[in-house]
Amino acid sequence: MTDSLYDVIIIGGGPAGLSAAQYTARAKMKTLVLDKSSSAGALAFASLIENYPGLEKPLPGPELLDIFRKQAVGFGAEYVEAQVIGVSLTGEVKEAFTMEKTYQAKSLIIATGSMGRKATIKGEAEFLGRGVSYCAICDAAFFRGKTVCVLGDSEEAVKEAGLLTRFAETVYLISPSKELKVSPDNPTLSIQNLKVLTGRTAASIEGGDLVERVHLRDAQGEESSLDMDGVFVYLHGSKPVIDFLQGSVEISEDECIVTNKMTETSIPGVFSAGDVTCTEVRQVVIAAAQGCIAALSAEKYVFHRRRRKYDWHG
Ligand SMILES: Cc1cc2nc3c(=O)[nH]c(=O)nc-3n(C[C@H](O)[C@H](O)[C@H](O)COP(=O)(O)OP(=O)(O)OC[C@H]3O[C@@H](n4cnc5c(N)ncnc54)[C@H](O)[C@@H]3O)c2cc1C
Repeated sequence: MTDSLYDVIIIGGGPAGLSAAQYTARAKMKTLVLDKSSSAGALAFASLIENYPGLEKPLPGPELLDIFRKQAVGFGAEYVEAQVIGVSLTGEVKEAFTMEKTYQAKSLIIATGSMGRKATIKGEAEFLGRGVSYCAICDAAFFRGKTVCVLGDSEEAVKEAGLLTRFAETVYLISPSKELKVSPDNPTLSIQNLKVLTGRTAASIEGGDLVERVHLRDAQGEESSLDMDGVFVYLHGSKPVIDFLQGSVEISEDECIVTNKMTETSIPGVFSAGDVTCTEVRQVVIAAAQGCIAALSAEKYVFHRRRRKYDWHG
């Protein structure tokens, strides 16, 4: 086992992942948090939180998230902004794959939240994997020299559109709202092969074996159509983010990760916390509490303890 082997890799930097990181780092476990984006999780979208215990005044979700992150990093957790696109979990060493690197650890906590999208556009589910994608970083290379669009108006949608401009010939950023949720001088918006269309929703995705076109509708109900090879959907929704797991842990019929009350998944050494699990209540306080349990369970697993240890003060 090498120096680059972590005690625990935590996938996801929301309240569940960062609360877990705070506990594992404080327990002197070598901790890595891999987070797709600090602005992509549910808390990052919450405009104001006033029901998290201990808050003296309501805080915007991103501000509360910053506090979580600083606290975890302050205890020694390493935070890397990278999207995990695959995992290998069956061996003693658990692996998490990103586009840049493979990371290894003795244990792993999955805390990727529930911001995956339920298919709502006509043709979206039908063409998934045949031109429809939810992951630009995973699939951009398949669209070299082609025409693609990103559906969405968030910072993440803009960022992913920017990435696609390096591969596709033309990238349309199609926003349902009149204004994108980024500053007008965001450098991505001036990339030459990016065309921004606002105030338009995708009515349907059509094609034969593969996607061939999208039908758009504007606020007045006027329809238009664009020839298209790929459609990257970055609209908000609520579906546990489990695509990168490729069925490697037990998933319920509702597509959430099955855990016991100590956050253990079907694979020894792999734990899960927060909205990605089959939790009935999706709230910050619950995600943070589950992150704590996952951390204690990972610590017990890595150090072969008979019981969980609760305090490392001093
Ligand atoms: C609009 C809105 C308002 C809300 N208001 C409240 C409220 O007032 N009070 C309250 O208690 N709760 C509220 N919630 C719910 C609360 O935000 C969630 O329950 C909580 O954030 C869940 O935490 P989590 O860590 O499980 O997931 P998330 O907060 O969703 O974090 C998941 C993290 O995983 C990362 N990730 C995803 N996929 C990958 C990948 N493949 N690789 C690496 N990282 C990945 C994401 O970038 C994200 O940082 C609200 C939610 C929303 C959407």
